[in-house]
Amino acid sequence: MKTVEMLIIGSGPAGLSAAIEAAKAGVRPLIVDANPKVGGQLFKQIHKFFGSSMHRAGTRGMNIGKIFLEQCNELGVEIWQDCLAMGYYEGNVVAVDRRLEDGTHKLFEIQAKTIVIATGASENSVRFPGWTLPGVMGAGAAQTMINYNRVLPGKKVLMIGSGNVGLIVSYQLMQAGAEIVGIVEALPKINGYAVHAAKLVREGVPIYTGYTVVQATAEKERVNKAIIGKVNPDWSIVPGSEIALDVDTICMGAGMKPLSGFAHMAGCAFTFDRFLGGRAPVHNEKMETTVSGIYVAGDSTGIEEANTAIEEGKIAGTAIAERLGYLDPKDADAACTAAWERLAGLRQGHNGDIRTRAKEGQIAKYREIMEGGN
Ligand SMILES: Cc1cc2nc3c(=O)[nH]c(=O)nc-3n(C[C@H](O)[C@H](O)[C@H](O)COP(=O)(O)OP(=O)(O)OC[C@H]3O[C@@H](n4cnc5c(N)ncnc54)[C@H](O)[C@@H]3O)c2cc1C
Repeated sequence: MKTVEMLIIGSGPAGLSAAIEAAKAGVRPLIVDANPKVGGQLFKQIHKFFGSSMHRAGTRGMNIGKIFLEQCNELGVEIWQDCLAMGYYEGNVVAVDRRLEDGTHKLFEIQAKTIVIATGASENSVRFPGWTLPGVMGAGAAQTMINYNRVLPGKKVLMIGSGNVGLIVSYQLMQAGAEIVGIVEALPKINGYAVHAAKLVREGVPIYTGYTVVQATAEKERVNKAIIGKVNPDWSIVPGSEIALDVDTICMGAGMKPLSGFAHMAGCAFTFDRFLGGRAPVHNEKMETTVSGIYVAGDSTGIEEANTAIEEGKIAGTAIAERLGYLDPKDADAACTAAWERLAGLRQGHNGDIRTRAKEGQIAKYREIMEGGN
């Protein structure tokens, strides 16, 4: 069995920043990531990041990933890629399935003094007749195909959802050579940043606000048409509003939910808030969950952005360095307070008060459970 002071599950911005912060104080963390390439979402994001200048807005996501990985290398952070954390046992023992260089797989047990769950998010799907047809996929899956695997999923794409993910992935699909036949958005207005929508509108992409997909049909076992229709306030379809679009791919950019199965397995308490993306593990101001020694950071504890994931990762890394005796409690408290102040600033942006309330509710729920003994 391998013994580590700090095990981080997930190498996205949350996991990497937790590792960097702890390693700066002297901790020797191990990061495991199920993907063959580390960096989480960052290496799929070829666009210049939105967000705050303090968090490298204007720099492409993939370049932010490179900077983080260089820092990890310099600080001696151990990283096991192609390594899925798949089991949790009492006493913080984690079972991982690691793919070795010769292509074989080996199971390892890791005894971790502390764990950070930074597993990110999974995509929501939209259900309509035909949604399981080949050619219908998540927007994130399409983004992985073009920016990571260099495979174009299709040539005529309909995107469902006009949030930032739907808009950005639509533009990247166009850059990769696909035609975006349209974007449907059930809300009466575009849901993502105007700057992303404007780029598509300038290229002549129709954005159907107040519309949804009614049905997808197939030819030769692959989607060939999407029927879209205008939605009434009760979500029924306005009779006669249907439009048939020729497509070979339908992408769903319909939001994400925390990928928190590992936290569930470990027995962490959860809360439900739709503004966090659904069920998410609760935590205190140090990002520690209701299971002692298990911390959480980033999208796995509520869907937000890379910049907030970075700050939450810093808090978890600092708190662990303090817990393990590498940081003076006063210094750790000051660093965590500063990170919370930066988070408060970041959460003043898009849907700021709703996000702030949701995150405060998550901490309040932690207190209620821990102090109330529920
Ligand atoms: C299209 C798109 C555009 C975006 N643009 C921006 C932007 O411009 N600015 C911004 O701030 N944010 C942006 N975001 C959001 C940002 O990418 C995420 O909020 C951020 O990546 C979350 O970081 P994370 O570390 O929590 O998770 P992730 O980056 O998702 O990383 C999670 C990692 O955990 C690994 N993992 C999961 N389960 C396991 C397991 N059991 N064992 C081992 N490894 C596991 C995964 O392989 C993954 O590498 C965008 C998101 C998308 C989809």
